[in-house]
Amino acid sequence: MIEVSSPLRLRLDREALVANWRWLAARSGAAACGAAVKADGYGLGARAVMHHLAAAGCRDFFVATWAEAAALMPLPEGVSLSVLHGVGASDMVAARTLPVRPVLASLAQVARWREAGEGRPCDVMVDTGMNRLGLRVEEAMSGALDGLRIETLLSHLASADEDSDQNAGQLAAFRAVREAVSARRYSLANSAGICLGADYAFDLTRPGIALYGGMPRVEAEGHIRQVAYPETRILQVRDVPAGEGVGYGATWTAPRASRVAIANMGYADGFLRCHAATGAGASWQGHVLPLIGRVSMDLIAFDASDAGAIGEGDWLTLDYDLPGTAVRSGLSQYELLTGLGARFERIWI
Ligand SMILES: *Cc1c(COP(=O)(O)O)cnc(C)c1O
Repeated sequence: MIEVSSPLRLRLDREALVANWRWLAARSGAAACGAAVKADGYGLGARAVMHHLAAAGCRDFFVATWAEAAALMPLPEGVSLSVLHGVGASDMVAARTLPVRPVLASLAQVARWREAGEGRPCDVMVDTGMNRLGLRVEEAMSGALDGLRIETLLSHLASADEDSDQNAGQLAAFRAVREAVSARRYSLANSAGICLGADYAFDLTRPGIALYGGMPRVEAEGHIRQVAYPETRILQVRDVPAGEGVGYGATWTAPRASRVAIANMGYADGFLRCHAATGAGASWQGHVLPLIGRVSMDLIAFDASDAGAIGEGDWLTLDYDLPGTAVRSGLSQYELLTGLGARFERIWI
């Protein structure tokens, strides 16, 4: 096969990922700290994330679908993997074959597992107020789960990133379920839930976004490090006379004779148009290059007038710290990571 180099790369910091997990594990107190690696590890690459975290001591991983689970085989030694969306009728072959547990999320799924799960252990999701996935509290406490081999009983917080009364309400509901339903372990907190305090940790926490550099709440500030650094290669640097426009719609006009760097990245790579006109930019060897004009599908322009000897083939590092970029773009920290496209070569350093 011909070696082809990609003009986009996602530089990924293994040490920062592991440091984030260790901080979340310490904040989880006596509870074990797992990792949500759904959506391909929030876009970073689930397999690599799982191996780096497993090497650091993480034992419990969560994906959304059976296809995601199958793509992670074989699992590292001693690692447990659960599928958050549970088992549909078409998932039963995968569910009986793979060394993975379903997180049963409805009475129908519970019935399906009783009938065809061959007595294997499972996890169960109880909905304590989000109205997304899971048995209702009264369903869970009605005896519907009696006799199941439940490894982990889960619930998920809807508003943990806010100071909302809903958090205490869900906590109380989860405690009641815990009294009534027997499982080996109980798990409630995602990244933001870990920040809410020890009451929310139970036996196992399930952070996602904070592992990858997202700031779930103020309590995490100063502790969570950036993990993902999108980089793009410059295709050409152009001289643009004062008064000429750049890009579709000529939304940027050169205020002086300018140098403009055109780089290999666009909205097809997840770098959406809402990033433009937000003061976002990139850096090269300590120089700051403001983003200018409209983002194209595969191209993007920067004002390189003050960027010294920058030229074709140089790599720009995008401003992509998640909390700041989220505020500027109006996208969530989750969207910023999971939107990064397949054209980025993922490189762990
Ligand atoms: C995605 C997810 C998590 C992780 O949430 P973050 O907010 O990314 O920490 C935990 N539990 C469940 C059920 C999830 O769907």
